Amino acid sequence: MNQLESCPRCDKIFVKTKMRDICEECFKKDYEYLQTVLNFLRKRTNRTASLKEICEKTGVDIEYIERFIQTGKIKVADFPNLGYPCKKCGALIKDGTICIKCREEMNDELRSFAKETERQKEIEERNKKLQQNHQATYYSQDE
Ligand SMILES: [Zn+2]
Ligand SMILES: [Zn+2]
Repeated sequence: MNQLESCPRCDKIFVKTKMRDICEECFKKDYEYLQTVLNFLRKRTNRTASLKEICEKTGVDIEYIERFIQTGKIKVADFPNLGYPCKKCGALIKDGTICIKCREEMNDELRSFAKETERQKEIEERNKKLQQNHQATYYSQDE
């Protein structure tokens, strides 16, 4: 189903489809930029170029190049110096959204979070039992 939406890049109203989530103009611009970058990278001597070098030599914004990499339009595996920044620390990565270091850190955090939740549960259980015991004595005294 198509629907009218404002383009996330330029705010123009356009018809959103499954294939396209940006407006015609931005789509064309995207395509042109992609061709420029791909042409640049086709040269053997440019294979080791960094994001910054590509940006400087092609005039295409780093933001665009990063997006091409992130969406897989540029295959970074073929280019040793290409990648996009880790969402957490900004280190250059080639897949996923965060780098290995941050992924490990996050795993550690998750682990300690799980441990903490476990501990809280234990405390709750203990309190519940204490309360039950308390009630039990209370009732037995009442009889
Ligand atoms: Zn647009
Ligand atoms: Zn990172």
